[in-house]
Amino acid sequence: MANHRFNAVKEAGSRQPFFIDLPSNKVSDYYGSTSFDLSKMQATLAPDVFKEVKHCIDKGKKIDGDIANAVAAAVKSWAIDNGITHYTHWFQPLTGSTAEKHDAFFDSMSGIEKFKGSALVQQEPDASSFPSGGIRQTFEARGYTAWDPSSPMFKWGTTLCIPTIFVSYTGESLDVKAPLLKALEAVDKAATKVCKYFDRNISKVTASLGCEQEYFVIDKALFNARPDLVMTGRTVFGHAPARGQQLDDHYFGSIPRRVIAYMEDFEVECHKLGIPVTTRHNEVAPSQFEVAPLFEEANVGTDHNMLMMDVMRRIADRHELALLLHEKPFAQINGTGKHNNWSLVTNTGVNLFQPSSSARENLLFLTFFVNTITAVHKYADILRASIASAGNDFRLGANEAPPAIISVFIGSQLSAVLDELETNGNIKIEKGDNMYMKLGIDKIPEIILDNTDRNRTSPFAFTGNKFEFRAVGGNANVGLPMTVLNTIVAKQLNDFREAVDALIADGKEKRLAIIEVLRKYIAESKDVRFEGDGYAEEWVAEAEKRGLPNIKDTPEALDAFLTEKSKEVFGLYNVLSERELEARNEILWENYVMKVQIESRVISDLALNHIIPTAVKYQKKLIDTAKGLQDIGLDNKSTVNVISKITEHIDGVKDGALNMIDERSRINEIEDAREKAVEYCHNIKHKYFEQIRYHVDKLELFVDDEDWPLVKYREMLFVH
Ligand code: ADP
Ligand code: MG
Repeated sequence: MANHRFNAVKEAGSRQPFFIDLPSNKVSDYYGSTSFDLSKMQATLAPDVFKEVKHCIDKGKKIDGDIANAVAAAVKSWAIDNGITHYTHWFQPLTGSTAEKHDAFFDSMSGIEKFKGSALVQQEPDASSFPSGGIRQTFEARGYTAWDPSSPMFKWGTTLCIPTIFVSYTGESLDVKAPLLKALEAVDKAATKVCKYFDRNISKVTASLGCEQEYFVIDKALFNARPDLVMTGRTVFGHAPARGQQLDDHYFGSIPRRVIAYMEDFEVECHKLGIPVTTRHNEVAPSQFEVAPLFEEANVGTDHNMLMMDVMRRIADRHELALLLHEKPFAQINGTGKHNNWSLVTNTGVNLFQPSSSARENLLFLTFFVNTITAVHKYADILRASIASAGNDFRLGANEAPPAIISVFIGSQLSAVLDELETNGNIKIEKGDNMYMKLGIDKIPEIILDNTDRNRTSPFAFTGNKFEFRAVGGNANVGLPMTVLNTIVAKQLNDFREAVDALIADGKEKRLAIIEVLRKYIAESKDVRFEGDGYAEEWVAEAEKRGLPNIKDTPEALDAFLTEKSKEVFGLYNVLSERELEARNEILWENYVMKVQIESRVISDLALNHIIPTAVKYQKKLIDTAKGLQDIGLDNKSTVNVISKITEHIDGVKDGALNMIDERSRINEIEDAREKAVEYCHNIKHKYFEQIRYHVDKLELFVDDEDWPLVKYREMLFVH
């Protein structure tokens, strides 16, 4: 085993960067070349057909019949010209990844390539292998995938991938995208109606999303020599290196050339696919990097993030690198998150979260700003649930990561504006008064200076012209948090409009009615606003005083989806029915159990079959030494001391691993998904993982480096 480790380290150390030849010096020459986007549709479809397609996309309507046939014919000929032989419906089942089933264009019966509109529009994947939380088993044996024309089809290898939703025959959604599309429609409708108070020309509001994706890459050989990384995506053991991320030395400034070559490569692939990435070079931890695409419409942005993760994974292979997207691959080193930059933009081009130089327009800004904060306050528990996963639990609420408490950071300038409005806003406005000046709304600066990077500890931060949901896990499908965020904001905006309309009906002037409702919301949602250090212990106590939920573990966090409040808000816009919510929770709990179970197995296997034998061998060497020293009449006290320490840690590892195995067999008998998840969380993970790790990591310090079987942290993180 130790040999395996040294071979891997040697192999990793001998590699050269692999720079690809860029397709062209100009990105525009190949940008979008493997994406069948709107411009290609426009170029290949008859004008009236294209107009209809565009109309359907804008209105979120289904495309079928002749129009679908025309699109199918156009995409088929584009595909064949581009060396594509197969097509697949590409969808996002609830397992957290993407799925596909490939069919050939070539039809052996007729001897020609075929692709009908019906095959574009709908397919029947073998649904039995995807989790459905009991929906399909009980009600309907099969499900189908249906084309989402608003997200461009793309070429991947020799396959045409068609973004689709995945639903059961009884209409329940079995994927991430279907509810997301409904949530985006809900927020569009709700926001558009609110916008009409200000501008009658606004007829559509689009949610936009830009994901800043963090990631680690390490050498492939080192990755393969760590069974825990291979099986679980994270290291279950490993002593922190002497040089952690606390050192701000030159290492962090320069990116290893192999990684630069990798970045260039995946960037090209992303650009070809029409994913607008701009690589960032600001790593936080050793071997950690970040890539951020330009923001896009939220549904497309979600698909593109899924696709980008896939591209990054596959391209890493070519560079003998392994991509790690797990939320906490290395203990005591920065985790991996995905900041979801989110805003709402009107069809007239106004970003509703952009403060303006005109006081009048700022009332529009304040409306959306305050309503979003209020929604986050009211539904903090559901937002928390939307980012719950076994991996993210190692980040949220752990030492150096956003807490599991959802709070909102808005910066001192906007805090002052809201405070002033709350305390001094109850003034009489006379005819001819400058209402905005009297209310202090004229004081909102156009450029918000003080917040973009000041507070990195907030899980939900306003950063100048957008909100940033930062607590999302690095490995997550952002479709779920985006579904929740857009749904709760839709609900909040509808509540707001009802309240304003009621005041107007009572004879109140429109703007004053808006101000009055906003002031009420500012006061009500004040507790969710927090400007301090989110990582500090004091905040946990303070948040508790404020009554903010702080749920550390996934099994309990998921309960928020099944409350009456949750059922109501998801039901209102048909985003998720009660049955769908229940089915989803079932799947998420099962998924959690699977993850923790695998980790637990890996831990006991590594502990019993790798760590203990190695430590025992070393212990024996020391015993021989101690005896030898005694034989020649020398003092062996320090050796005996080490032996007793090693013995203590070996016992610790062994007891922990064996007890954990017993506990596992007991828990595995449990039928109920939630109960099982809770048991795995508290009686496996919390009870044993850290305890076993503590002893293993101590042994790593004692045992001769020559004998240690697992690739060490310093080797993984600093060998490039
Ligand atoms: P930072 O968070 O470091 O200030 P940027 O301002 O560069 O970073 O933005 C990070 C991400 O936010 C990028 O993906 C960017 O496209 C996206 N973004 C910028 N403006 C908006 C917006 N109005 N809506 C959604 N995302 C946005
Ligand atoms: Mg950011």
